[in-house]
Amino acid sequence: MAEESNTPLEEILARQQLDLGRLKDALGLLGVSACAWCKKFHRRSDSGALFDAGELICYGCVPEWWPQRSAQLNTKDRESLEGKLVFWLRDFHHAELFKDPAKLPESSLQELHIVANCLECRGTGKLMGQERCRYCDGRGTVWVIVSRQS
Ligand SMILES: [Zn+2]
Ligand SMILES: [Zn+2]
Repeated sequence: MAEESNTPLEEILARQQLDLGRLKDALGLLGVSACAWCKKFHRRSDSGALFDAGELICYGCVPEWWPQRSAQLNTKDRESLEGKLVFWLRDFHHAELFKDPAKLPESSLQELHIVANCLECRGTGKLMGQERCRYCDGRGTVWVIVSRQS
């Protein structure tokens, strides 16, 4: 006969949950945080490792996470988070903005590829409501590319 335990399963689980929570806190003190998407831990001091989107997302997960996350946001939130993401990619991963899709590097050379609203005209393609936006050639869209390090 199986050994009978007086501890209900829920209680064991709750206890483990508590232990995990404590472990996470400890890792937080050590400057390590988990990506909300893949759950892997990364150093926060490595500022390019985790993107703070309200939840922390590691660089490797951005291409998969962003399309799904952005689809859940309303236009205003999407724009502001997208802008933040583009700046972060530029600052920490040398992302380049392209306004002409014909000029993109070969896809085998792209490590990350995101299509974003132009930050200058906010996706309208026009500056001051008149002039064609020169940052996106009036498309309202820019291509954000991180090239593979050769
Ligand atoms: Zn991740
Ligand atoms: Zn523009």
